[in-house]
Amino acid sequence: MKVFIWAALIMLPIVVNAQNWQGKFEQIDKLLPTPNSYRTASGQPGHKYWQQKADYIINVSLDEKALTLEGDEVVTLHNNSPHKLKYLWFQLDQNIRKENSLEFQSRENEIYGEMEAQDMMGITNDHFYEGGYKLGNVTAFDGSPLPYIINGTMMRVDLPELLIPAENVKIKISWSYNLYDRQRVDGRGGYEYFPEDGNYLFTVAQWHPRLAVYDDVEGWQNKQFLGDGEFALTFGDFDVKISVPADHIVAATGELQNKEAVLTKDQLKRLNNAAKATSPVIVVSEKEVRKKEKTRSDEIKTWHFKAINVRDFAFATSRKFIWDAMAVPLTTTTPLAMSFYPKEGNPLWEKYSTQAVANTLKKYSEHTFDYPYPVAISVHSADQGMEYPMICFNGGRPDAKGKYSQYKLQSMVSVIVHEVGHNYFPMIINTDERQWTWIDEGINTFLEHLTMKEYYPEFDNTWGTPVSVTNYMKGNPDYIRPLMTNSDQIVQFGYNGYGKPSAALSVLREVVMGQELFDYSFKEYASRWAFKRPMPADFFRTMEDASAVDLDWFWRGWFFTTEYVDINIKDVSWYQIERKPANGNENSQKDTTEQVSNKLLASPGPIYLSKPSDASYGGFKNRLDDETIIQQNIGRFLYEITFENLGGLVSPLIIEWTYSDGSIETEIIPAEVWGLNENIVTKVFAKEKQVVQVQIDPNQITGDAYLFNNSFPRKAVKSRFDMYLEKD
Ligand SMILES: [Zn+2]
Repeated sequence: MKVFIWAALIMLPIVVNAQNWQGKFEQIDKLLPTPNSYRTASGQPGHKYWQQKADYIINVSLDEKALTLEGDEVVTLHNNSPHKLKYLWFQLDQNIRKENSLEFQSRENEIYGEMEAQDMMGITNDHFYEGGYKLGNVTAFDGSPLPYIINGTMMRVDLPELLIPAENVKIKISWSYNLYDRQRVDGRGGYEYFPEDGNYLFTVAQWHPRLAVYDDVEGWQNKQFLGDGEFALTFGDFDVKISVPADHIVAATGELQNKEAVLTKDQLKRLNNAAKATSPVIVVSEKEVRKKEKTRSDEIKTWHFKAINVRDFAFATSRKFIWDAMAVPLTTTTPLAMSFYPKEGNPLWEKYSTQAVANTLKKYSEHTFDYPYPVAISVHSADQGMEYPMICFNGGRPDAKGKYSQYKLQSMVSVIVHEVGHNYFPMIINTDERQWTWIDEGINTFLEHLTMKEYYPEFDNTWGTPVSVTNYMKGNPDYIRPLMTNSDQIVQFGYNGYGKPSAALSVLREVVMGQELFDYSFKEYASRWAFKRPMPADFFRTMEDASAVDLDWFWRGWFFTTEYVDINIKDVSWYQIERKPANGNENSQKDTTEQVSNKLLASPGPIYLSKPSDASYGGFKNRLDDETIIQQNIGRFLYEITFENLGGLVSPLIIEWTYSDGSIETEIIPAEVWGLNENIVTKVFAKEKQVVQVQIDPNQITGDAYLFNNSFPRKAVKSRFDMYLEKD
């Protein structure tokens, strides 16, 4: 009992120091949903985990003259839930373009002096076209009409009888809608018009009524589509027939089923060659395209695609498409990387696109699992960057003479890497984008950064690193939200959804966990939740479960608050250990001066080591070998450093010591050092050599927002972010 009192007394000075305790190291169980049999405390899917499956058989045709899309579909919902369902919810995303949509009505506008003509469209919603679905029939499989009601971008279809667990139901829906000009209407699909040759390039997405998700977390995820919160979708198989003018080339999610019917013999031969090639092979050449652009076919051809286990289906079609492809041999799979682009994208696209697709698949496979789908496609259309399973639409176009800057090249390549990367997050690791943006965009930006760093080191790959978000994180708190904020309420979308979560993962990997533990745990998360539907808690829990690193403080600080990292080296005191003089009258000199800039260059204060009296051993009969301890330590330097946490976000301390002989040593003090005092800590370091400079976060990898207080004595340090800005 006495021993404990003794221990408590020793602790007292530190406890007294603690002020404004905010529980930064408290476990976050209260912030996360309670584990259950669907989602476990370890972050794994539980033994009763279930998810719905929705299969589609779709016929769709494009009317290039009328600029409309018309289709019909049979949706089969397999009810894998343990519940009886009375109705189904469908997503009608095109209704976001209806005249008085919730999106339009809830949009904020402001007047900033002179306006550009097209800004008026954001105010009046006048896009010179009629948006939204025109629904045809909504029936049961036998053709009998089903009652339905449309609420904005959601449609409830009432079933004739309860859909019981393990049963399925088939619904037939027919629809049409007007395609829109992406220059007029900001959206993820639509068309681009090329006035020089009068042709169109269609990127078609969110184009058919899609079943909403029904799951163990939300029930029906029928939150309205407002534009930013992207999609919540269920896996299923697609069988899609796309009818387009016969001179079009179609790129789509899935595998082409009728190559012989839609390709020429030469094209087919080249495509077969591409499947064996490890550098891009042209399937449809620029020469062929230039010829086709001048004519218009009146015939119709139907392209037939099948896609297994995907959460969505998108396609692109144009007579302007040049097409190249190559195989990407991974350890267990060999997907085909392909690009489709108009000649306006060259010479950039033929040179870089497909290779960028291949590089992405390689790097992402390394950090997750081998790319499981048969194809990965990059389609070029101006000013886009949007992802769907196996296919994405990307901008990045040279000027009319085919010239481009290094910056243009970098942004084109990084968009392709990013959008192709989305095949993993959220297309396969199927997160709920309508609820959370960071969990796919942030994770994806992080892997995009790793890919760019490895395959494109010639570019400035600062984006997604801690340096790229420090100004944001220390900015005006009125314009900052925690990462755990619903997608539609995010302010500073790019920083919140992409930059900061990517930076957080970078801090986790490079500082908090180390690469080995991080990479294993991250891979574990990806494989546990491949083709499933993880929630943020499943990610947080898995990263801890697989690493034995307590990360509650990290998730709490980086994901649930808007605090930032700013550590101040408040003071450094320097001592040298001496044997206590025999007369015993002299006392150690505790340094009480603060911030004397050259005090590391003056001489150290003496700290005496003495042999303890018998009394200090208390009840122990054994004695330590005090003389040896003294011998070992005589002459050593002690550096007592006081660190202050000014930004609020607790952080590991990366300390770089520069010694008088010019040598440098770096050590990492884990964030747990703040466990007893979140605001100020003092720690003593024993060194053999004299220190002339102490620097924290020397490589700027912790996200520390102010650099001037990171050194002792103070020295001016240029931020890597400023250097990055100066370059542009
Ligand atoms: Zn993205």
